[in-house]
Amino acid sequence: MKILPLFITHQGCPFQCLYCNQKAITKSSGFNFEKAEQLLADFCKKNLETTKEVAFFGGTFTSLPLSLQKEYFALVQPYLPKLNGIRISTRPDFIDESILANLRQNKVTVIELGIQSFSDDVLTASKRGYNSQTSQTSCQLIKENGFKLGIQLMPGLPGFLPSTWEKTLEITANLQPSYVRLYPTVVLANTELENLYKNGAYKPLSLSEAITICAEASEKFSQNNIQIIKIGLHSDIDEVIAGPYHPALGEIVKGRILCQELIRNYKKNHTLFLNPRYISLLTGFNHKNAKFLKKTLNITKLPITLCSKTNYFSFKKKKAKQYL
Ligand code: SF4
Repeated sequence: MKILPLFITHQGCPFQCLYCNQKAITKSSGFNFEKAEQLLADFCKKNLETTKEVAFFGGTFTSLPLSLQKEYFALVQPYLPKLNGIRISTRPDFIDESILANLRQNKVTVIELGIQSFSDDVLTASKRGYNSQTSQTSCQLIKENGFKLGIQLMPGLPGFLPSTWEKTLEITANLQPSYVRLYPTVVLANTELENLYKNGAYKPLSLSEAITICAEASEKFSQNNIQIIKIGLHSDIDEVIAGPYHPALGEIVKGRILCQELIRNYKKNHTLFLNPRYISLLTGFNHKNAKFLKKTLNITKLPITLCSKTNYFSFKKKKAKQYL
């Protein structure tokens, strides 16, 4: 699936959220209809045979005046026969039956909610302006109305505790969204969170904490058949003040999950048969994962055979082709 993101930076947002700096994230300050039309035309031409969607991200789409929403839909309209749908992101407190009816009429198929946490303590401390029940009701309405639901979560916001995260994971799993995005909270320049951090009133997660939290969440969601489509902010953000930012956080988390699965299934004096597409995850940046794995298993060398007939991995009592 290819998605063309069109950024409506901060448009429709009732206020600037304490951690949010969409200009730093999207590197865009205003919406240019002409440029967007060109992007759409190129996108459809380049991806003729691929499943594709256009997405309006970076603001609160459903709080925009209807006349402006209409302009955005009119922009996409000529390309609809070539697209598989439209997705929008919005806040959970800007969803109701009439909003959903308008979205359905304009061929929106996927709604992504920036929920961030299902804990009222976190939502209050982070001044989000809605509560957990509002989010849960919006999620249910979206699903009942036949839209695909995406949920964005931000571990590490002010008020974050292991118990608030546990609750957030539990409620998310029960709501059964189609997918989740995980964005561990990062302190960006020109945000209220930057001031809190500099005054000592906010302490971000460490990178290592964020990796563990995301790996555990990924396992929980995968057990509940919920896909995680993104972990961490994208790779070229240059206004990070503090927090668990890494340009390849998603890959690091996948590597951690692989290591944990290997540790759980490890058989002494057996060879690891691994599909070659997972070898870079196994070794990790600077061989960190391989070192972690060997240290945890208390071994100096891991016998391994790369085998494309193995779907993922298995341990077999056979001679290894190499050692890690
Ligand atoms: S977090 Fe969402 S609602 Fe808040 S300012 Fe950013 S884009 Fe707007």
